[in-house]
Parts: sequence; C-alpha cells; structure tokens
Amino acid sequence: MVVYRNIGVGTGVGATNPWLQELPDPVTRATWGNYALISVAKAKELGIELDNDYEYYPEKPVIKIQSGKASIELPVLVMPGMNANTIAVPMGYGRADFTGRTAAGVGVNAYPFTSFNGTTVSFVNPNVTVTDAGRKEKVAQTQIHNSYEGRVEVLRETTLGTFKKRPNEIKEWRDHLVETFAATSGDFRKEATLYGVHETPGLKWGMNVDMNACFGCGACVVACHIENNVPIVGKSEVLRYHDMHWLRIDRYFISDENNADELKGVVFQPMMCQHCDNAPCENVCPVAAKPQ
Ligand code: SF4
Ligand code: SF4
Repeated sequence: MVVYRNIGVGTGVGATNPWLQELPDPVTRATWGNYALISVAKAKELGIELDNDYEYYPEKPVIKIQSGKASIELPVLVMPGMNANTIAVPMGYGRADFTGRTAAGVGVNAYPFTSFNGTTVSFVNPNVTVTDAGRKEKVAQTQIHNSYEGRVEVLRETTLGTFKKRPNEIKEWRDHLVETFAATSGDFRKEATLYGVHETPGLKWGMNVDMNACFGCGACVVACHIENNVPIVGKSEVLRYHDMHWLRIDRYFISDENNADELKGVVFQPMMCQHCDNAPCENVCPVAAKPQ
C-alpha cells in the first residue's frame, strides 16, 4: 500500500479549503474524499465486476484495508496503469471535527498506515490485507466515462516526425468535417450548429496552452475558480454530475481497452473558458487569457 499526497488537499493542509476539496484529481477526476486505487487485475482478484454500471454510477465497491491495528474502509477506483499488486490511497482526509465543516467527515485518515523509523517517514506499507467490505459508497467524479467506444477521437495527437511528413493532416481532417457537416455552404458556423451566428467585434480574447507541457495539474482551474469567487457546489451536487468550474482539464488514457493495466500514457485536454470576447474577468485573469 502506498499513501500519497493528492494535488488538492496535499498532506491535509488544504482539506479545510472547499475550493481545493472540489478540485478534481488530474487522473481519477474525483473530488471530496479519498479512495483506494487498484489495478484491473486486482479488481478481478477481488471479484469486482467492471461493467458499465461500475463506470457510470458513483456507487463503488468498498474494501477493508488492514495492517496491525490500523484498519480503514474505502471505495475502490480502478485505474488503468496501476501496478497489479499496489493499492494507493491519498492522505490528508478524515480530519477531526475541530478542523471545521469543510474537512470533517470527508474521507478517511490513511496516516496510521505510514511508519516512522526515527529518521524518515515511510509512506509504503508492504504488510496490508485487503478484503471486500460487502457494501458500496459514492465517489464524486467530474469525468466518469473512459472510452470513445469507437467514435471519432476527441483528442488528436501526432508526433513532430509525422507532422513534418504530413503537415496538412489535421487541416485535412478539419476540411473533411466541414465537407461532412456543412456540405452546402462550406461554412461550419452557419450550417453545422443549432446556434445562430453572432458578431464578435473588437478585441478577441484567447488562451494558448502548450499541450506538450500541460500535465493536468488543475492550478488554472482552481485559480480561475477563486479569482471569480465562484461558489463550490459540494459533494452532493458533484454526485449529480454538476460543477461550477469555468475551466476543465479532460483526461484520456492511451491503452488497449481490453488490457488497461498496460497503460501507454495519459493525455490531458484543457477545455478553457468560452467567454466569447467580453468577460469582465479577462482583465484580471490569473491564467493569463490575453487579447489576440
Ligand atoms: S494548463 Fe497549465 S495550469 Fe492548467 S492544468 Fe495544464 S499545466 Fe496545469
Ligand atoms: S478569462 Fe476569466 S473565466 Fe477565463 S480563465 Fe481567466 S478568470 Fe477564468
């Protein structure tokens, strides 16, 4: 078992900040609480059925993890790429009541599974037993479905070598879409959307993200959320697939659907604010939206 810091609440110091509790984890896309990450192979070993219901609905099977006197129960998230024999649990949850209503009662405390040898703290515990707790618990995720199911890719990738050989590949794909959906006029905006075309005079605002550099940290998401004093919606609403983030970083796995443990990579697609030229926050944007 590995106890690790997640990006939102860290060691627990961020647990009292509701904006950080609601910031989705870059990979699991989960908010408001911790969970046990396991591999597909381990899920099979535990008899957890990975059907559509598992993926779509927030109710996840709960496992009991024990080591000596330490014992916790956590909902399971099966993550592609997890080592078959490793269970990973974020620390910083399960805070005491006196920490306030944001942190108290959210998740469980994984620190009892760490150890101190007089010099350093070990966050790896090789002596845990895992059993099925025989119940389910809800995990609030902002992205739940992990397959294109054979549809056209949403996120397209290429290499510099391929781009040099075929620099027009992406343009050709876009042209093909226009031909398909706007065959009469060739104007995608006029023909291929239900929404009317509206004029956008004056300054144009935009945001560029180096897609090779983005590693999904979510700093832009939480900075924008805070800059604009946007409220959080809480776990109960995230469980209903609602959230109030004005930016979103989608995550995709690169793997064979039938062998997800052999993960080839994870890619992120920033979905930036769509404020159409005239948002008051652009002048103070912490994410550096700029006039183009
Ligand atoms: S765009 Fe930058 S700040 Fe936002 S998730 Fe990617 S790396 Fe993080
Ligand atoms: S322009 Fe406004 S909505 Fe867009 S990222 Fe910046 S602060 Fe957020």
